[in-house]
Amino acid sequence: MLMSGGLQSPVQMIKGVGPQRAELLAKRGIHTLEDLLAYLPFRYEDRIRFSHVKDVRPNAVYTLRVSVMSGQAIRTMRGRDAIYHLLVKDETGSLPCKFFHGGYLEGRLKPGQELILHGKAEVDKQRPARIEMVNPQIEVISGAGLDSTEVGRIVPIYEAIGTFGSRAIRRAIYGGLQQLDPRMPDVLPTTLRAKLNFPSHRDAVIQTHFPPPEESLDALNQFRSPAQQRLIFEELFLYQLSLALDRRATRKENAIAFRVREDSVREALKRILPFKPTAAQKRVLAEIAADLEKAAPMNRLLQGDVGSGKTIVALQAAVIAMENGCQAALMAPTEILAVQHFLSARRNLEKAGYKVELLISGMKSTEKTAALARIASGEAQLVIGTHALIEDNVVFAKLGFVAIDEQHRFGVLQRKRLMDKAASHGHAPHVLVLTATPIPRTLSLTLYGDLDVSVIDELPPGRTPIVTSLATEQSLPGVWESLRREIAAGHQAYVVYPVIEESKLELKAAMDEFERLSKQVFPKLKLGLLHGRLSSEEKEIVMLKFRLNEIQILVTTTVVEVGVDVPNATVMVIEHAERFGLSQLHQLRGRIGRGAGKSHCILVAPGHMSENAKARLETMVRTANGFEIAETDLLLRGPGEFFGTRQSGDLGFHIANPLRDREILDMARREAFALAENPSSAGELNQILRALPPHWQRRYHLARIG
Ligand code: ADP
Ligand code: MG
Repeated sequence: MLMSGGLQSPVQMIKGVGPQRAELLAKRGIHTLEDLLAYLPFRYEDRIRFSHVKDVRPNAVYTLRVSVMSGQAIRTMRGRDAIYHLLVKDETGSLPCKFFHGGYLEGRLKPGQELILHGKAEVDKQRPARIEMVNPQIEVISGAGLDSTEVGRIVPIYEAIGTFGSRAIRRAIYGGLQQLDPRMPDVLPTTLRAKLNFPSHRDAVIQTHFPPPEESLDALNQFRSPAQQRLIFEELFLYQLSLALDRRATRKENAIAFRVREDSVREALKRILPFKPTAAQKRVLAEIAADLEKAAPMNRLLQGDVGSGKTIVALQAAVIAMENGCQAALMAPTEILAVQHFLSARRNLEKAGYKVELLISGMKSTEKTAALARIASGEAQLVIGTHALIEDNVVFAKLGFVAIDEQHRFGVLQRKRLMDKAASHGHAPHVLVLTATPIPRTLSLTLYGDLDVSVIDELPPGRTPIVTSLATEQSLPGVWESLRREIAAGHQAYVVYPVIEESKLELKAAMDEFERLSKQVFPKLKLGLLHGRLSSEEKEIVMLKFRLNEIQILVTTTVVEVGVDVPNATVMVIEHAERFGLSQLHQLRGRIGRGAGKSHCILVAPGHMSENAKARLETMVRTANGFEIAETDLLLRGPGEFFGTRQSGDLGFHIANPLRDREILDMARREAFALAENPSSAGELNQILRALPPHWQRRYHLARIG
């Protein structure tokens, strides 16, 4: 039913999804039945057989079916938090459980109530003879009848979406699955399905949510059941097919071959340099220049750790394009970063006579119209902007070079749309993609199709390593004191608050903190507040003041995460550091240590943390190496989080996880390229297109198969 109305019906049509839940789902990008069915369980539990309380040993994970004996919340000394103590039993014995931050459970669990608990058993630290479960996941079994979605089967566990818990999501999905059309079309060609021994799309969806009882629990939990593999393969296959068809098309395309060896170009490249480039910067520029000399379009990934100096290399490549009579474009993921690039490009390039233009969606419409006219006439030579650059109304006179900063924030398809801006005048642009997210080389080749890779493996000279330390909330007064000293010495500081979705509710906490810091902690200092919900103009003003040292302490959210460059800022305090991912912390920390002054990063976290959280923060203290941090992140959090897919839809995968699913990715790549490159497969390609609903065609950039 990919194509029929059913899958596209709004989630509210599903039993158990009212307006409130629909709103929660919408925030996660889940609007239709199809979206909901793509929300897959992250784990499965065997609820055909439960473990018994009498068999529970420390340091192992159990799923138990128990009933409540008693429960009580006990406030901790500081009064804000509570530990909830729960006593449960089954036919073989009783077991104490402890929930840190468990105040919310008060009054919710009644004696006699039946529960399923899943979690790790540990030795009670105060009473070593006692075994307890700490913070187990809890599911209340509903009333009288035992619902077939809850017990007596392998049960899917979903990550809660706000107050929409796993059990309720499970029921909604169960209801949704009943509506699936038995004659749902399948995008995978029959021959391919037979060859790989995959179930149909419909069966795969059903069995991924509600696996048959004989399915291996291990396979399921590793996303290796045939049903899961089929869905993963399908997504990767369509993605690779898109790359394969692109490559087929690109082979026929021509780019403009630039002259780079001429003295005038060499002179121009030197003229714009504000400092002596590092050896690594020189080497990668030579690699880029060699590509630009060719009539085939450059497709290059420029990888380099935070602060390694990628920007100037991209600007030099832009200068080559401009010296050759072409326009250049630089796309950044945030307005703050686009404006910063714009200001520094103007500083370095305008004195050399180049005309630099800014294009962001927050501009006044008169300004924007004027900018668009200058871009269309060719008067604007280097255009720097955000997503606004790929909108339909942006027309270039002669775009020859495109740089995309922090590519991990953009989908591959956005890159393609920017490339299309040049295609309209008969040639493909040279493309340079910049990223600080280290991806294993083999994987990046597969993911980015045919990008060549250049690496800046050296930091500019004169940097003093950043000293990172951990602090607890109790020790904050001391932290503020050291911050005061740095500011007295003329430096500036960031205080980062974990506002990740920039929702009103989350922002309230950051604003309260800002108020408290300005009024109570630093009444004599100049503080500023920066967050994603400010208008473009407000953001610019705050950043300008910070750059001019008119703001000494910038209280901010993750909007400063990428690219922001204010060398005089030497301290960063990150509150609730345990809520951030490691790669994110690394990016954030990269905002300091940019000048010659010694920089300090202080990670503030609760005294009580999971082992995993502790290990993550200790990694930050131990190393400043982006590769090492990324690897640890990958290990500790798993690949989904690693790519930050949830925050930015990065690589655009819904189900597949390219790191976890490398083998399937390889297989999908082989099959897709074989199909795209075989002239006799036109019929099969058309069959795929016919089965692809329009929004899937857009998602995979596949509309042009036929
Ligand atoms: P990133 O690779 O993280 O994008 P940037 O391009 O923002 O790094 O550069 C980080 C800082 O280092 C900037 O302030 C930039 O001006 C400076 N910088 C870059 N290259 C050099 C160099 N060769 N010598 C001195 N400073 C440099
Ligand atoms: Mg950068």
